[in-house]
Amino acid sequence: MELSHIEHLGIAVKSLDEAIPYYENILGLKCYSIEEVADQKVRTAFFKIGQTKLELLESTSADGTIASFIEKRGEGIHHIAFAVKDGVQNALNEVEGKGVKLIDKTPRKGAEGLNIAFLHPKSTKGVLTELCENPNE
Ligand code: ZN
Repeated sequence: MELSHIEHLGIAVKSLDEAIPYYENILGLKCYSIEEVADQKVRTAFFKIGQTKLELLESTSADGTIASFIEKRGEGIHHIAFAVKDGVQNALNEVEGKGVKLIDKTPRKGAEGLNIAFLHPKSTKGVLTELCENPNE
């Protein structure tokens, strides 16, 4: 598998409304998109630094994965997303062949229309890892 860059960092927050002013007023970034991803029970806010993004994640449901993450570990970095060069499915097949446990066996649609899939943190040294590709690039 060949990674091209860190596509984004996912950061779990209790409230986008409370978190966005920190990123805008203190770090001087600009939120360029807010999007709900219904099947992941999250609302996301995006910032860009160079070619890397920050994806703030707010749970839209008390039983969502972001809600339970914050309950267990508090707000903070939730996952790292790598852009892969030759397709997410190829990367999944390759790492599964090397014994990595997958959360997604096939890619699904994430925010911003990306094809995404998660590797299980039990197989990735504790870092929830997302592989993604932009189908329009
Ligand atoms: Zn992500």
